[in-house]
Amino acid sequence: MYMVLLGPPGAGKGTQGEKLKDKLGLIHIAMGNLLRETVKKKTPSGEKVRAFMEEGKLVPDGVILELLKNEIELEKEGFILDGFPRNLSQARKLDEFLDKEAEKLDLVINLEVKKAVLIKRLRGRLICSECGKVYHKSKIDHSMEICKDCGASLLQRNDDNSDIIKKRIEVYLEHTHPLIDYYRKKKILRNVQGEGTSEKVFQRIMDLFKEKKIA
Ligand code: ADP
Ligand code: ZN
Repeated sequence: MYMVLLGPPGAGKGTQGEKLKDKLGLIHIAMGNLLRETVKKKTPSGEKVRAFMEEGKLVPDGVILELLKNEIELEKEGFILDGFPRNLSQARKLDEFLDKEAEKLDLVINLEVKKAVLIKRLRGRLICSECGKVYHKSKIDHSMEICKDCGASLLQRNDDNSDIIKKRIEVYLEHTHPLIDYYRKKKILRNVQGEGTSEKVFQRIMDLFKEKKIA
């Protein structure tokens, strides 16, 4: 199955992508994580990527497609994409890619979350420096800011500050939101209410499969 998780920053794409990966046995490709790994390498191209991300702007398509190609070629069973596509030209490129393989995208899950909730989630988000598990400042023990799963320290992402969050939401509305219509027209879009606990949201996604609302 070839699947895309769509939604604004903070909608929970990464969290649901991990849960779906375990459940469906597909690979989960998180573009943001691939980019952050690129940045860590401190190469000249990594430095360029960092500048775009720190400003909350989209990284140029060329870089994105190159990273994606390396990941996708390894996998034949299907994938769950998160953070890609983020604009119409990326969506068309994905269609072309699958077309060449005589495949097609099966499902796009659009996580719907109100702007105020997105902002609250992103401003309080803490991420495990080792395993990437996501926490929220309001829900952790502040005397012990370490990951429950692996014991590593929790960090705030550079782009999870108020100004950049605002910018990322603007970029989402301008470039990514039009993809909802793009996929609706292809009849593969399913909207899922993305508010509430991650377990609740995951249940809503699973319900779609049960109710056979998915082709
Ligand atoms: P979020 O969805 O919370 O914004 P991500 O980790 O998915 O977080 O993305 C972080 C940043 O990485 C984006 O703000 C953008 O700069 C860059 N990025 C991620 N995916 C793409 C993409 N498909 N195209 C261009 N830039 C991207
Ligand atoms: Zn951890």
